[in-house]
Amino acid sequence: MKKTAFITKEKAEEIAAKYGTPYHVYDEEGIRKNAKEVADAFGWNKGFREYFAVKATPNPFILKIFKDYGFGCDCSSMAELKLAAAAGFTGEEIMFSSNETPAEEYKYATELGAIINFDDITMIPYYLENVGELPETICCRYNPGGTFSISNHIMDNPGDSKYGMTRQQMTEAFNMLKQHGVKHFGIHAFLASNTVTDDYYPMLAEQLFTLAAELKKECDVDIVFVNLSGGVGIPYTPDQEPNHIDRIGEGVKQAYERVMIPAGLDGVKVYTEMGRYMMGPFGALVTRAIHEKHIYKEYIGVDACAANLMRPAMYGSYHHITVLGKEDQACDTKYDVVGSLCENNDKFAIDRMLPRIDKGDLIYIHDTGAHGSAMGYNYNGRLWCPEVMLHGDGSFSLIRRGQTLNDYFATLDCFKEFEMLFR
Ligand SMILES: *Cc1c(COP(=O)(O)O)cnc(C)c1O
Repeated sequence: MKKTAFITKEKAEEIAAKYGTPYHVYDEEGIRKNAKEVADAFGWNKGFREYFAVKATPNPFILKIFKDYGFGCDCSSMAELKLAAAAGFTGEEIMFSSNETPAEEYKYATELGAIINFDDITMIPYYLENVGELPETICCRYNPGGTFSISNHIMDNPGDSKYGMTRQQMTEAFNMLKQHGVKHFGIHAFLASNTVTDDYYPMLAEQLFTLAAELKKECDVDIVFVNLSGGVGIPYTPDQEPNHIDRIGEGVKQAYERVMIPAGLDGVKVYTEMGRYMMGPFGALVTRAIHEKHIYKEYIGVDACAANLMRPAMYGSYHHITVLGKEDQACDTKYDVVGSLCENNDKFAIDRMLPRIDKGDLIYIHDTGAHGSAMGYNYNGRLWCPEVMLHGDGSFSLIRRGQTLNDYFATLDCFKEFEMLFR
């Protein structure tokens, strides 16, 4: 599918004039339309809730948008819990799907009334010893091991992943929790990441629904929800077909009718914890071409770097690029588009065919709405850039200012000549 920018060159320049470059920009209209489609796709399930994975885009303005659709927050750290609380989420609107969790985070999550999702059976005695009595509702995370395949294609490798409990441990955990007074149970699993197929959730649902039926029988417990977690992907490359959330919802519904209803589990709620699917396509990194370099290859140097978007450097991920204002020009020049880090993997694109780029052009890097700004870091003393929300009426607002050198140096207050750094 042809990938197009959600912003014009004129609008991008207007934002740049106010906040400078680079910046991450988000498309509020797109976020809302997509959120509504997700709610509709699972509307058949009474009590359905999407818990937005806060780690994907940890910004309270964005969390508040999702609140309008009845969604919750999926957190896994103290900072994410604090963000969710600040954005007005409480109680069962917060899912705490953490792992290797410190006691104080369990304590705070419990204070908020969040649903605790245990990643491991050893977390039960750990919680009892260090936090206190268990809440009435507890979720356990399952890992079936082996590989996860769809039509003979290996999607991912649960057997190699650090998360979740074995099948046997799920039974033991439920029995142990029951003995300690837990009354309501949830089941969770995350088996494959960035799946660009409508079959992932339905196949995962079938497995988890079957497990729910087995555990209900074996342990005689009240199962109240099945959490399909995240992993629904987006088409980063133009040749990929986007997922159809309505078909995904319908596939999960069919599995529900096949497995849950005969097992007497009608009424069990379906939850999701999508991050990438909720935000990925609705964010972009806008950066300016500031240098060109002609050596053994042609390079375009931009004012963003891997500190603003780490995925290409870290995973070799493809992010589509549009040169704003040159959408209709032929892609007849091969470039590496690079940032300023002293790291040769700081490349947003390698051997990419693009229109001829002039210094001053605005480069729009697609699909940075999830796991984009969030993965920012400060290597080489490079700073986080601002985040801007573009509203449906064409106006825009700052939703996170850019980091300053003062922010960067703030933790050096143990240094005697501290004030020198601020001159
Ligand atoms: C990362 C994560 C998610 C979100 O994953 P996406 O691929 O962004 O949908 C959801 N749940 C848990 C527990 C996660 O770790």
